[in-house]
Amino acid sequence: MSFETLQLNPEILRAVANCGYSEPTPIQAQAIPEILAGRDILATAQTGTGKTAAFMLPVLQRLSDVRRGPKGAPRVLVITPTRELAAQVTEATRNYGRFLNLRSAVILGGTPYVNQYRDLGGPLDLVVGTPGRLIDHLERRSLNLSRLEVLIIDEADRMLDMGFKEDMEKLVSAAPANRQTLLFTATLDKTMADLAGRMLREPVRIDIAGKQVTLEQIEQRLHVTDCLEHKKRILHHLASDPAVTRAIVFSATKRDADALAVELSALGHRAAALHGDMPQGARNRTVRDLRQGRVRLLVATDVAARGLDVNGISHVINFDLPMAAEDYVHRIGRTGRAGATGIAISFVSRSDVPRLERIERFIAQPLPQSVILGLEPTRPLRGPRSARTVNGGAARPGQARPGSGRPGDRRESGNRWQKSAPRDRREPVVEMRSRKPGARPAAH
Ligand code: AMP
Repeated sequence: MSFETLQLNPEILRAVANCGYSEPTPIQAQAIPEILAGRDILATAQTGTGKTAAFMLPVLQRLSDVRRGPKGAPRVLVITPTRELAAQVTEATRNYGRFLNLRSAVILGGTPYVNQYRDLGGPLDLVVGTPGRLIDHLERRSLNLSRLEVLIIDEADRMLDMGFKEDMEKLVSAAPANRQTLLFTATLDKTMADLAGRMLREPVRIDIAGKQVTLEQIEQRLHVTDCLEHKKRILHHLASDPAVTRAIVFSATKRDADALAVELSALGHRAAALHGDMPQGARNRTVRDLRQGRVRLLVATDVAARGLDVNGISHVINFDLPMAAEDYVHRIGRTGRAGATGIAISFVSRSDVPRLERIERFIAQPLPQSVILGLEPTRPLRGPRSARTVNGGAARPGQARPGSGRPGDRRESGNRWQKSAPRDRREPVVEMRSRKPGARPAAH
């Protein structure tokens, strides 16, 4: 299918061609005709599926047909859970709408009100924003949603996770009942489905198997680590690999993100931190530096990196495993985007085993273990009693031994990864791998 068959304006088609897109992604092919026909949408799709263009292209088409609304009263509102995602939606709007004469405003928390009052003070087509600040403007009457035609809720499940349910409902109730509503979520549990039921009218249900789409293009590995120092040595080793052209390193806390970025910089890596305590200006600059290659290793927390849309992320490194299995998929979805392949590496210590098992169950596959010569763990991840398969079965007696890997495990020598025999998912733990006599860590 081509974009031409989707009945989009020539100006929009030109912008899409400028972005280098040759054909619509599955969510675009399914959603665009329905949105153009005015239907509500309930879509389960993750970042990386092309969901932003799926809602933005038909919405821009609608905006280009009629003149813009009165002061402070946008015709389209996109609500996003984080500032980064809002900034990316805005950038996408700019790219896709570059040949249209449209006016948009970005309303984010943590940024000065003065520019927002200025932007909202004139006629407007589209507003993108985060819930808290949008509510502020609604209460101050600088934002008027009475003329809203299309409401888009992006990453609605994340919005719930972050405690924005009431804010979301307030914004929805300030919009006219006959608006069109497009709701995008990565997961659809009962709470989400109830909320969607209240916000949407006879929605078209679109389900993009994001998990498979994302994971197929991503090679996943894990490194067993003994302690923090061991983790840092492995990170430094990986960071020294020239194949790591642009990476996101996930850390559990903001403080650790700062500390790791400082340590990596001191070791000569172009690293920077990204987390929610940084002023918005600094966050924007850091993301820009990553895009433009001035930063090669971004050390980030989950919230800050959520929705981050930077092309060409070669590696995602989970320095700390995420708490929720879903976040693992969100994190590794930063790489392997838009047809590219990517590598996701997770550091796992013994205390992480329950979390690892949740992740492996969630993605329905075991993560193969990699070993770096000279940086092997001193203890296996699981003792003989606790070795388990992904589906919860115990390993055969005698299979898990000190230093044991699993079929399909890799071992790295220098910067080359060598794949061993193909992994059989039913046979989780088999061979023992010991360090070759005299083997040394690869030089960098
Ligand atoms: P999203 O899921 O909206 O975050 O988009 C993921 C990435 O896919 C972004 O980098 C987009 O620029 C890119 N993208 C969106 N639509 C297409 C398409 N039809 N062809 C190729 N890349 C696309």
